[in-house]
Amino acid sequence: MQYISTRDKRKEFSAAEAIIQGLAPDGGLLTPAYLPRLPGHALEELASMSYQQRAVYVMNLFLEEYSVKELTGYAVKAYGPDKFDTDQVVPVRKVDGNTYALELWHGPTCAFKDLALQMLPHLLSGALEKTGAEKDACILVATSGDTGKGALEGFRDVPRTRILVFYPKDGVAAMQELQMRTQEGENVGVCAVAGNFDDAQTGVKRLFSDPELRAELDRRGYFFSSANSINWGRVLPQIVYYISAYCDLLRTEEIAAGDPLNVCVPTGNFGNILAAYYAKKMGVPIAKLICASNSNNVLTDFLTTGVYDRNRPFHTTISPSMDILISSNLERMLYALTKGEDAEVTGYMEQLSRTGRYEVSDTIKGRIRSLFAAGWCGEEETVDTIGRIYREKDYLLDPHTAVAFRVLEKYREETGDETKTLVASTASPFKFCDSVLTALGVADQAAGVEIMEQLSQVTGRPVPGPLAALKGKPIRFSGWTEKEQMAQRVLEMLG
Ligand SMILES: *Cc1c(COP(=O)(O)O)cnc(C)c1O
Repeated sequence: MQYISTRDKRKEFSAAEAIIQGLAPDGGLLTPAYLPRLPGHALEELASMSYQQRAVYVMNLFLEEYSVKELTGYAVKAYGPDKFDTDQVVPVRKVDGNTYALELWHGPTCAFKDLALQMLPHLLSGALEKTGAEKDACILVATSGDTGKGALEGFRDVPRTRILVFYPKDGVAAMQELQMRTQEGENVGVCAVAGNFDDAQTGVKRLFSDPELRAELDRRGYFFSSANSINWGRVLPQIVYYISAYCDLLRTEEIAAGDPLNVCVPTGNFGNILAAYYAKKMGVPIAKLICASNSNNVLTDFLTTGVYDRNRPFHTTISPSMDILISSNLERMLYALTKGEDAEVTGYMEQLSRTGRYEVSDTIKGRIRSLFAAGWCGEEETVDTIGRIYREKDYLLDPHTAVAFRVLEKYREETGDETKTLVASTASPFKFCDSVLTALGVADQAAGVEIMEQLSQVTGRPVPGPLAALKGKPIRFSGWTEKEQMAQRVLEMLG
């Protein structure tokens, strides 16, 4: 299987090259040249396998240069019992007669990014061996929260990698900051940047293209690499869990082979829902893909009107991982929707960077309509949904997942489509205790890590192990920097 750029499909790359590069040299996204079809009885066969085996089966279809033995080693390490608190890895919970939650937050950082970021480091260090790369990878991350911690946990102590994370000093949730500052591992570094997320992100982009810094890195035996969600090595592991969820529903006889299943995904960068689309194209009987947004509803507008317009106010919400106005993985979706018209995709992307806006052709609008439904949910509605679903269904939602539940309700009211639906549950409610307690009507809230125990007492649910372990953990990283000094920090952290 070769990989091509969404902006020029004549250029081909191997899987290992795609994973090392992250982004194509022309700025496009590296995408499989075609999508493999699952053979006829694959879903029934996979239904009796473990999650790790399912991951090996699916990834093997895309990664020619990796042997089954290698992939098995990666899957065992990435999704083993020391990383995930349940053997099922991504359990499917029945919430009511036709709604199922795919719980993607049982990993080391309690958010769905773990499924990809536990696997990516192994794929990357394997790729370094395969391509004969002489230098080691220095991964730079700018984070507004979940990605930074996910990447730190994934890359910690992985051979031939270093991982350095910059986060905005005043722009992440208290729990997220604590998770990063207490990070363990010999190859990790964490530093706050004075300013907001934009300052951190712009700073990191500057580091990537700083010729002096790159030369110094080269002398020390490293090159820069990235772990952000446009890397193919992050999308691929996400396809696995949609296939796995369908298998679990077959195994528990909630559905029969061939039954349609809708999927509803709380969306930011479009990576997670794109993976569901790929699973559908590979042969999983997914019917509608329901894209849920918070008040940053640029995708709702795009999927309903065909006009993408990022020229709008940015809202800071209680579902911060969806506060995004440029959904970078949408480019892969456009490539699929145009059926590989790379020039058309390039045109849209140029308009986006020039004017912040583009409108797709009528043909594409039609294809979008048949594949997708879209909706959004405001702040008050999100809080209300957490409280209501807890009271009525005894199921506890984090704010991101609550957005998806509310959008699904509205979709069902509008269309009358009662097809069984899988909702991607992307974070543990214990990562967002303040919003969740507010939703449950608890105004008098504990400070610091104690708030997790308070939520546990109120709901009778245990605090997830990795979050409970934060209590009393020593702070390893307390430094911060002005954004002009980030290059020096990189060199200090590299040692
Ligand atoms: C990253 C994230 C999302 C958004 O996922 P995308 O793949 O960017 O669409 C949703 N919820 C949570 C909790 C996240 O961390």
